[in-house]
Amino acid sequence: MTDTAAASPARLAVLTSGGDAQGMNAAVRGVARTAMSRGAEVFAVYEGYQGLVDGGDAIRRFAWGDAGNILGRGGTSIGTFRSKEFRTRQGRLKAAKNLVERGIDRLVVIGGDGSLTGLDAFRAEWPGLMDELADAGLISPEMAAAHPALMIAGLVGSIDNDLVGTDTTIGADSALHRIVDAIDAITATAASHQRCFVIEVMGRHCGYLALMSAIAGGADYVLIPELPPADGWEEQMCAELRRGRAAGRRESIVVVAEGAQDRTGEPITSEYVRATISRINGEDARLTNLGHVQRGGKPSAYDRWASTWLGYSAALEALTAGPATEGVVLGIRGSEIVRLPLAEAVARTRRVPELIAAGDYDAAMGLRNEDFTDMARIFTELTHPNRVTTKEDSPRVAILHAGGLAPGMNTAARAAVRLGIARGHTMLGVRNGFTGLLRGAVDELGWEDVEGWTGVGGAELGLRRDVPGVEQFYAISRALEDHRVDALMVIGGWNAYQAAHLMQGEADRYPAFRIPIVCVPATIDNNLPGSDETIGADSALNEIVDDIDRIKQSAAATTRCFVVETMGRHCGYLALMGGLAGGAERIYLDEDGIGLDQLNQDVRWLRDSFGRGRRLFLAVRSERASESYTTDFLGRLFEGESHGLYDVRTNIIGHVQQGGEPSPADRLLATRMAAAALDVLARELGADEPTARYLGLRGGRIEDHPLAHMTEYVNSVKRRPRTQWWMELRPVVAAVGREPSS
Ligand code: ATP
Repeated sequence: MTDTAAASPARLAVLTSGGDAQGMNAAVRGVARTAMSRGAEVFAVYEGYQGLVDGGDAIRRFAWGDAGNILGRGGTSIGTFRSKEFRTRQGRLKAAKNLVERGIDRLVVIGGDGSLTGLDAFRAEWPGLMDELADAGLISPEMAAAHPALMIAGLVGSIDNDLVGTDTTIGADSALHRIVDAIDAITATAASHQRCFVIEVMGRHCGYLALMSAIAGGADYVLIPELPPADGWEEQMCAELRRGRAAGRRESIVVVAEGAQDRTGEPITSEYVRATISRINGEDARLTNLGHVQRGGKPSAYDRWASTWLGYSAALEALTAGPATEGVVLGIRGSEIVRLPLAEAVARTRRVPELIAAGDYDAAMGLRNEDFTDMARIFTELTHPNRVTTKEDSPRVAILHAGGLAPGMNTAARAAVRLGIARGHTMLGVRNGFTGLLRGAVDELGWEDVEGWTGVGGAELGLRRDVPGVEQFYAISRALEDHRVDALMVIGGWNAYQAAHLMQGEADRYPAFRIPIVCVPATIDNNLPGSDETIGADSALNEIVDDIDRIKQSAAATTRCFVVETMGRHCGYLALMGGLAGGAERIYLDEDGIGLDQLNQDVRWLRDSFGRGRRLFLAVRSERASESYTTDFLGRLFEGESHGLYDVRTNIIGHVQQGGEPSPADRLLATRMAAAALDVLARELGADEPTARYLGLRGGRIEDHPLAHMTEYVNSVKRRPRTQWWMELRPVVAAVGREPSS
């Protein structure tokens, strides 16, 4: 092995370590292809740190094609391992020798806190390891001098979602999909037999999966390590389950994190919970331990696009870092990639189990992010059926859906009704949107009326796209007065916002409109102002990714170009994120437009790459990317210019994007938004001059804004926000979608 000259391309290695997690493959692909797109030479280290220690064939050159076909696979295609040898200095000495001999001094590791601790130690020790290798004559002094430092970046691959300082870790969203699917399935059988099920989920020190799946799955009770129950919890839990049944639930579901414990630090096992329910409530409770299923299966849409983005960012980090750059771990917070000092992030993450062990639960919760603490509070409120009986003078809050259908609308309505009742409101449901309102289709909704709505697609209350015209405002104002509506929650998309905006504009003429109104963003298009994410968009992305997976599989044994069209109207979110998560080479957005020069280049790209052996090319086009260059046109153009090298198929994904059950992320967002909407209404009910507001998720936090100013932030012709954070991901598509030589 020879040393590499200083002018040689940078050499970067990537490895996965610790427990596997869905999305690790997407991250590896993102790291490898981005590094290649920047001219670096990439190596994959097989079997985690053990591969570094072993060297030889465990450290292999990774080519563009090696990262093909792995994006949608669970686990990690380059293997993982818990290496004892790497924990020793002797092991790390071997690892350093194996790297430096190959001219590699940049390393990206995707793993848990242990793996990242190892990475930081390795970086800190690197100069000393070089000296030791050179002194022992194992490498030349020149080789040691040419690689004075190890430049690193860490990504957290862990289904537990336990890294303090970021919103999600690679794999957590997919694990939630597995758990929530299982809870939905178990709920159906439990309801049939009116049974109680205890479900154990992973999470030794972090209750994220348990808490979030309990909310997304509509469970009755949850036990997590950060919030040990008070003494006598067994009686209280059983009483809550009985109260739920009395209020109309046919089944009871209790979710237990594997690390659940009581206030003395004694573990609470799921079997103990099951036996306790059987003993106290006298029913035959059943136990299901979900085990490794949670780590398995395909990565979710989120774990594909977010991990690709993280991989992209980690590659850039490791390639641009210098000898003095501290080690960082990258994560996602809100809609941004954050760089956290590695040692500090790991120390803060490890502090949580220490605090739990010391009984300082408030401090442990304090290290969890806002989403987690909000959700813990909301869960407690949601699961207290009939805590408050509404009174004659309770504020009357009406809920209506408007605009296009978005998965998660039912979840939002259910949460609003149950939380509203818990807060002492009378909750009213408007059937069929504004059309129903003007016809007076308004009923009171009780706690039990929304039973089972959490995971159901569609909109049980009904909805209409129509925006009421001013000529209908008189009828609407009469309906609001007749039903004594004190506040209105409008759950929907662009049309819903527009209708609420118009109503507010007419408040001088119609006193009934001078009530608090709050708009909750629910549309698959993700095209509303003030919100990084809208309810329904994640479900639609998962649908798109499922479809793309099938479309790709259908092309086995052919050479084919697919042009897939997504919804989204003039907003390219679904196309860009669906394309990124689906592994598209080319994405067409209205935000960029489509031009003839560019199509010419694309045709050449297609011919070149199929000529060099490509078997599949995926282009994703947003439905209104261009009035002239339609999906059909693109298909014909590419086919007409194929010179027999490939064939072309077009596929318009269509309304399945709006149908289907809400994803876990959409259920959680819908629940959190409903709670925040009630907070806003309560505040505005107390105001002298209540205003109409709209909600948004920004940087992981829910904020509300005056509807009157909405138009300043949107392009009304294109019906999308003026600035869209996800447009930043276009370079990611370019880096991972196009082989540099092509
Ligand atoms: P998970 O959260 O899935 O358990 P993890 O990365 O925390 O993942 P660990 O078993 O703690 O899993 O660590 C994985 C590997 O990282 C270890 O087998 C070891 O090779 C290396 N490693 C962990 N801690 C250290 C350390 N302090 N020094 C050197 N290497 C370490």
